[in-house]
Amino acid sequence: MGYYAGIDIGSTTSKAVVINDVGEIVSSSILRNSYNLGESGEKALLIALEKKGLSQNDLSYIISTGYGRRTIEFQNEAEPEVIGHAKGTIEIIPTCRTIIDIGGQDSKVIEIDEKGVRKFQMNDKCAAGTGRYLDKLADDILGIKVEQLGEFSLKSKKSIFLSTQCTVFAETEIISYLSSNESIENIASGMHYSLAKRVIQMGKAANIRFKKDIVFSGGVAKNIGMVKAIEDLLEEKVIVPKEPQLTAAFGVALMARERFRAI
Ligand code: ADP
Repeated sequence: MGYYAGIDIGSTTSKAVVINDVGEIVSSSILRNSYNLGESGEKALLIALEKKGLSQNDLSYIISTGYGRRTIEFQNEAEPEVIGHAKGTIEIIPTCRTIIDIGGQDSKVIEIDEKGVRKFQMNDKCAAGTGRYLDKLADDILGIKVEQLGEFSLKSKKSIFLSTQCTVFAETEIISYLSSNESIENIASGMHYSLAKRVIQMGKAANIRFKKDIVFSGGVAKNIGMVKAIEDLLEEKVIVPKEPQLTAAFGVALMARERFRAI
Protein backbone atom coordinates (compact mmCIF):
# COMPACT_ATOMS: atom_id res chain seq x y z
CA MET A 1 0.00 0.00 0.00
CA GLY A 2 1.42 3.41 -0.98
CA TYR A 3 0.78 6.62 0.92
CA TYR A 4 0.94 10.24 -0.26
CA ALA A 5 0.80 13.48 1.71
CA GLY A 6 -0.34 17.03 1.14
CA ILE A 7 0.75 19.76 3.56
CA ASP A 8 -0.96 23.16 3.52
CA ILE A 9 1.08 25.67 5.53
CA GLY A 10 -1.25 28.67 5.88
CA SER A 11 -0.53 31.91 7.68
CA THR A 12 -2.55 30.80 10.74
CA THR A 13 -2.67 27.00 10.68
CA SER A 14 -0.84 24.05 9.11
CA LYS A 15 -2.87 21.19 7.74
CA ALA A 16 -1.70 17.73 6.64
CA VAL A 17 -3.63 15.05 4.77
CA VAL A 18 -2.37 11.50 4.12
CA ILE A 19 -4.12 9.48 1.41
CA ASN A 20 -3.74 5.91 0.18
CA ASP A 21 -3.45 4.40 -3.31
CA VAL A 22 -7.16 4.81 -4.00
CA GLY A 23 -7.22 8.44 -2.92
CA GLU A 24 -8.98 7.90 0.41
CA ILE A 25 -8.01 10.08 3.36
CA VAL A 26 -6.35 7.80 5.93
CA SER A 27 -5.33 10.55 8.34
CA SER A 28 -5.23 14.33 8.75
CA SER A 29 -4.31 17.05 11.21
CA ILE A 30 -4.86 20.77 11.78
CA LEU A 31 -2.34 22.64 13.92
CA ARG A 32 -2.15 26.30 14.92
CA ASN A 33 1.17 27.71 13.67
CA SER A 34 3.99 28.82 15.92
CA TYR A 35 6.23 31.67 14.73
CA ASN A 36 8.24 28.99 12.85
CA LEU A 37 6.04 28.03 9.90
CA GLY A 38 8.33 25.25 8.63
CA GLU A 39 8.39 23.57 12.02
CA SER A 40 4.57 23.80 12.24
CA GLY A 41 4.14 22.26 8.78
CA GLU A 42 6.47 19.39 9.64
CA LYS A 43 4.72 18.84 12.99
CA ALA A 44 1.28 18.76 11.31
CA LEU A 45 2.53 16.00 9.01
CA LEU A 46 4.07 14.02 11.91
CA ILE A 47 0.82 14.23 13.90
CA ALA A 48 -1.19 12.92 10.93
CA LEU A 49 1.31 10.08 10.36
CA GLU A 50 1.52 9.10 14.05
CA LYS A 51 -2.27 8.81 14.30
CA LYS A 52 -2.03 5.81 11.95
CA GLY A 53 1.32 4.43 13.14
CA LEU A 54 3.02 5.62 9.94
CA SER A 55 6.33 7.43 9.45
CA GLN A 56 7.68 9.72 6.73
CA ASN A 57 9.43 6.68 5.19
CA ASP A 58 6.00 5.24 4.35
CA LEU A 59 5.24 8.23 2.08
CA SER A 60 5.96 7.84 -1.63
CA TYR A 61 5.48 11.53 -2.51
CA ILE A 62 4.79 14.79 -0.65
CA ILE A 63 3.51 18.11 -2.03
CA SER A 64 3.30 21.29 0.02
CA THR A 65 1.06 24.28 -0.61
CA GLY A 66 -0.07 27.48 1.12
CA TYR A 67 1.62 30.72 2.08
CA GLY A 68 4.47 28.84 3.86
CA ARG A 69 4.87 26.04 1.31
CA ARG A 70 8.57 26.77 0.81
CA THR A 71 9.44 26.93 4.52
CA ILE A 72 10.00 23.14 4.49
CA GLU A 73 12.48 21.31 2.31
CA PHE A 74 11.62 17.61 2.57
CA GLN A 75 8.68 17.81 0.13
CA ASN A 76 9.01 16.60 -3.47
CA GLU A 77 7.21 19.65 -4.88
CA ALA A 78 5.42 22.86 -3.86
CA GLU A 79 2.21 24.03 -5.56
CA PRO A 80 0.33 27.37 -5.33
CA GLU A 81 -2.62 27.08 -2.96
CA VAL A 82 -5.22 28.10 -5.55
CA ILE A 83 -4.34 24.94 -7.51
CA GLY A 84 -4.55 22.84 -4.35
CA HIS A 85 -7.93 24.31 -3.35
CA ALA A 86 -9.37 23.75 -6.82
CA LYS A 87 -8.11 20.15 -7.06
CA GLY A 88 -9.35 19.15 -3.60
CA THR A 89 -12.70 20.91 -3.86
CA ILE A 90 -13.53 19.52 -7.32
CA GLU A 91 -12.76 16.01 -6.07
CA ILE A 92 -15.18 16.44 -3.13
CA ILE A 93 -17.84 18.48 -5.00
CA PRO A 94 -17.45 17.93 -8.77
CA THR A 95 -20.27 20.40 -9.54
CA CYS A 96 -18.37 23.27 -7.89
CA ARG A 97 -18.01 26.39 -10.08
CA THR A 98 -16.99 28.94 -7.43
CA ILE A 99 -14.82 28.59 -4.34
CA ILE A 100 -14.89 31.18 -1.58
CA ASP A 101 -12.03 30.43 0.80
CA ILE A 102 -11.55 32.56 3.91
CA GLY A 103 -8.55 31.75 6.08
CA GLY A 104 -6.85 33.43 9.01
CA GLN A 105 -4.98 36.07 7.07
CA ASP A 106 -6.15 35.82 3.49
CA SER A 107 -9.25 35.28 1.41
CA LYS A 108 -9.73 34.02 -2.13
CA VAL A 109 -12.51 33.70 -4.65
CA ILE A 110 -11.84 31.15 -7.40
CA GLU A 111 -13.89 30.58 -10.56
CA ILE A 112 -13.82 27.03 -11.91
CA ASP A 113 -14.89 25.50 -15.21
CA GLU A 114 -14.60 22.01 -16.74
CA LYS A 115 -10.86 22.57 -17.30
CA GLY A 116 -10.04 23.79 -13.78
CA VAL A 117 -9.24 27.29 -12.47
CA ARG A 118 -10.61 29.98 -14.81
CA LYS A 119 -9.68 33.00 -12.71
CA PHE A 120 -9.19 33.97 -9.10
CA GLN A 121 -8.81 36.97 -6.84
CA MET A 122 -7.01 37.04 -3.53
CA ASN A 123 -6.63 39.43 -0.60
CA ASP A 124 -3.66 38.98 1.69
CA LYS A 125 -3.03 42.67 2.31
CA CYS A 126 -5.97 43.85 4.39
CA ALA A 127 -6.93 42.06 7.64
CA ALA A 128 -10.51 43.36 7.39
CA GLY A 129 -11.18 40.95 4.49
CA THR A 130 -9.94 37.86 6.36
CA GLY A 131 -10.64 35.71 9.42
CA ARG A 132 -8.30 37.95 11.41
CA TYR A 133 -11.05 40.59 11.44
CA LEU A 134 -13.42 38.26 13.32
CA ASP A 135 -10.64 36.78 15.52
CA LYS A 136 -9.49 40.16 16.71
CA LEU A 137 -12.89 41.77 17.26
CA ALA A 138 -14.34 38.70 19.03
CA ASP A 139 -11.38 38.29 21.33
CA ASP A 140 -10.30 41.89 22.02
CA ILE A 141 -13.60 43.75 21.96
CA LEU A 142 -16.53 41.36 22.51
CA GLY A 143 -14.60 39.09 24.90
CA ILE A 144 -15.92 35.88 23.33
CA LYS A 145 -14.23 33.07 21.40
CA VAL A 146 -14.40 33.32 17.61
CA GLU A 147 -15.92 29.79 17.62
CA GLN A 148 -18.94 31.25 19.50
CA LEU A 149 -19.54 34.15 17.10
CA GLY A 150 -21.70 32.16 14.70
CA GLU A 151 -24.15 30.97 17.37
CA PHE A 152 -24.39 34.49 18.80
CA SER A 153 -25.13 36.01 15.41
CA LEU A 154 -27.91 33.51 14.67
CA LYS A 155 -29.77 34.87 17.72
CA SER A 156 -29.57 38.47 16.48
CA LYS A 157 -32.73 40.53 15.95
CA LYS A 158 -31.00 42.80 13.41
CA SER A 159 -27.50 43.40 12.05
CA ILE A 160 -25.70 46.54 13.08
CA PHE A 161 -24.07 48.43 10.21
CA LEU A 162 -20.30 48.80 10.34
CA SER A 163 -19.26 51.63 8.07
CA THR A 164 -15.50 51.27 8.30
CA GLN A 165 -13.28 49.19 6.00
CA CYS A 166 -10.56 48.79 8.61
CA THR A 167 -10.26 46.40 11.60
CA VAL A 168 -8.75 49.08 13.84
CA PHE A 169 -11.54 51.59 13.17
CA ALA A 170 -14.16 48.83 13.43
CA GLU A 171 -12.97 48.35 17.02
CA THR A 172 -13.88 51.96 17.80
CA GLU A 173 -17.24 51.61 16.06
CA ILE A 174 -18.08 48.44 18.01
CA ILE A 175 -17.05 49.96 21.35
CA SER A 176 -19.44 52.80 20.62
CA TYR A 177 -22.26 50.32 19.84
CA LEU A 178 -21.52 48.44 23.10
CA SER A 179 -21.65 51.66 25.11
CA SER A 180 -25.08 52.41 23.65
CA ASN A 181 -26.20 48.93 24.86
CA GLU A 182 -26.34 47.23 21.47
CA SER A 183 -26.44 43.43 21.92
CA ILE A 184 -23.41 41.22 21.21
CA GLU A 185 -25.71 39.12 18.97
CA ASN A 186 -26.53 42.09 16.69
CA ILE A 187 -22.89 43.20 16.63
CA ALA A 188 -21.66 39.68 15.75
CA SER A 189 -24.15 39.56 12.90
CA GLY A 190 -22.99 42.97 11.63
CA MET A 191 -19.38 41.79 11.69
CA HIS A 192 -20.22 38.75 9.56
CA TYR A 193 -22.12 40.79 6.95
CA SER A 194 -19.29 43.32 6.84
CA LEU A 195 -16.65 40.61 6.14
CA ALA A 196 -18.90 38.71 3.71
CA LYS A 197 -19.59 41.92 1.76
CA ARG A 198 -15.87 42.69 1.41
CA VAL A 199 -15.02 39.19 0.12
CA ILE A 200 -17.92 39.19 -2.37
CA GLN A 201 -17.02 42.69 -3.59
CA MET A 202 -13.43 41.56 -4.10
CA GLY A 203 -14.64 38.70 -6.34
CA LYS A 204 -17.12 40.87 -8.25
CA ALA A 205 -14.43 43.52 -8.89
CA ALA A 206 -12.45 40.77 -10.65
CA ASN A 207 -15.54 39.83 -12.73
CA ILE A 208 -16.05 36.56 -10.93
CA ARG A 209 -19.67 35.55 -11.55
CA PHE A 210 -20.34 33.44 -8.42
CA LYS A 211 -21.87 30.66 -10.48
CA LYS A 212 -23.42 27.60 -8.80
CA ASP A 213 -22.36 25.38 -7.08
CA ILE A 214 -20.64 27.72 -4.68
CA VAL A 215 -18.34 26.07 -2.14
CA PHE A 216 -17.28 27.92 1.02
CA SER A 217 -14.00 26.62 2.49
CA GLY A 218 -11.22 27.64 4.92
CA GLY A 219 -11.42 27.82 8.70
CA VAL A 220 -13.94 30.68 8.56
CA ALA A 221 -16.42 28.38 6.78
CA LYS A 222 -16.82 26.64 10.18
CA ASN A 223 -18.59 29.80 11.33
CA ILE A 224 -22.33 29.32 10.74
CA GLY A 225 -22.90 33.09 10.92
CA MET A 226 -20.52 33.64 8.00
CA VAL A 227 -22.28 30.93 5.98
CA LYS A 228 -25.60 32.71 6.53
CA ALA A 229 -24.20 36.16 5.67
CA ILE A 230 -22.65 34.93 2.40
CA GLU A 231 -25.84 33.08 1.43
CA ASP A 232 -28.00 36.14 2.17
CA LEU A 233 -25.78 38.52 0.20
CA LEU A 234 -25.40 36.18 -2.80
CA GLU A 235 -29.07 35.04 -2.59
CA GLU A 236 -27.71 31.55 -3.17
CA LYS A 237 -27.00 28.46 -1.05
CA VAL A 238 -23.36 27.58 -0.47
CA ILE A 239 -21.89 24.14 0.17
CA VAL A 240 -19.47 23.75 3.09
CA PRO A 241 -17.32 20.60 2.80
CA LYS A 242 -17.23 18.33 5.88
CA GLU A 243 -13.64 19.42 6.60
CA PRO A 244 -13.50 22.92 5.05
CA GLN A 245 -9.96 23.61 6.30
CA LEU A 246 -8.47 20.55 4.60
CA THR A 247 -9.43 21.03 0.94
CA ALA A 248 -6.07 22.41 -0.28
CA ALA A 249 -4.00 19.81 1.63
CA PHE A 250 -6.28 17.08 0.23
CA GLY A 251 -5.91 18.55 -3.29
CA VAL A 252 -2.11 18.47 -3.23
CA ALA A 253 -2.13 14.97 -1.67
CA LEU A 254 -4.13 13.83 -4.74
CA MET A 255 -1.58 15.59 -6.96
CA ALA A 256 1.23 13.81 -5.09
CA ARG A 257 -0.37 10.46 -5.94
CA GLU A 258 -0.69 11.45 -9.63
CA ARG A 259 2.88 12.75 -9.87
CA PHE A 260 4.31 9.59 -8.27
CA ARG A 261 2.41 7.42 -10.73
CA ALA A 262 3.74 9.46 -13.64
CA ILE A 263 7.38 8.89 -12.64
P1 ADP B 1 -4.94 29.70 6.90
O1 ADP B 1 -5.01 28.59 5.88
O2 ADP B 1 -4.91 31.06 6.29
O3 ADP B 1 -3.87 29.49 7.91
P2 ADP B 1 -7.42 28.55 7.93
O4 ADP B 1 -8.15 28.20 6.68
O5 ADP B 1 -6.82 27.44 8.70
O6 ADP B 1 -6.34 29.69 7.68
O7 ADP B 1 -8.46 29.36 8.86
C1 ADP B 1 -8.10 29.96 10.08
C2 ADP B 1 -9.25 30.86 10.48
O8 ADP B 1 -10.40 30.08 10.69
C3 ADP B 1 -9.00 31.65 11.75
O9 ADP B 1 -9.39 33.00 11.53
C4 ADP B 1 -9.93 30.98 12.76
O10 ADP B 1 -10.43 31.84 13.74
C5 ADP B 1 -11.06 30.47 11.87
N1 ADP B 1 -11.71 29.29 12.47
C6 ADP B 1 -11.19 28.05 12.63
N2 ADP B 1 -12.06 27.22 13.25
C7 ADP B 1 -13.17 27.97 13.48
C8 ADP B 1 -14.44 27.69 14.10
N3 ADP B 1 -14.73 26.50 14.62
N4 ADP B 1 -15.36 28.70 14.17
C9 ADP B 1 -15.08 29.93 13.66
N5 ADP B 1 -13.90 30.25 13.08
C10 ADP B 1 -12.96 29.29 12.98
